[in-house]
Amino acid sequence: MQRNTFQRQVVLSAVQTLCHATADEIHRFVAASHPGISKATVYRNLGLLSENGQISHIEATSGADYFDCTTSPHYHLQCTECGKIFDVPFLYLGELNHIPVDPGFTVTGHTVLFKGVCALCNNNKERKIK
Ligand SMILES: [Zn+2]
Ligand SMILES: [Zn+2]
Repeated sequence: MQRNTFQRQVVLSAVQTLCHATADEIHRFVAASHPGISKATVYRNLGLLSENGQISHIEATSGADYFDCTTSPHYHLQCTECGKIFDVPFLYLGELNHIPVDPGFTVTGHTVLFKGVCALCNNNKERKIK
């Protein structure tokens, strides 16, 4: 296998294992088993994989962007305490893409990010109160 192909495969399988992770988290995961792979290599391959549509890229409004192993459109929940991203088991509303917009503007998709506190952080909070 070519070196580039191998590195891309390693990065892809890291995203598939972690499912939702930032570039830094993916690099840390990859470096644990392949210490020779630099941060720049991981970042470059994440860019290539999202361009190829093999992974998707979640642009965060605050904090680091996330990479997602699921490529079909879906919604996300983000915990405001720990920052973790979860999938929302809810139908994607494709018809929302047909909103009336300026002629000449093409809508290619939409994203929804729900905010809240995850079960783990809720448990930790309760423990602190008691
Ligand atoms: Zn949390
Ligand atoms: Zn997702």
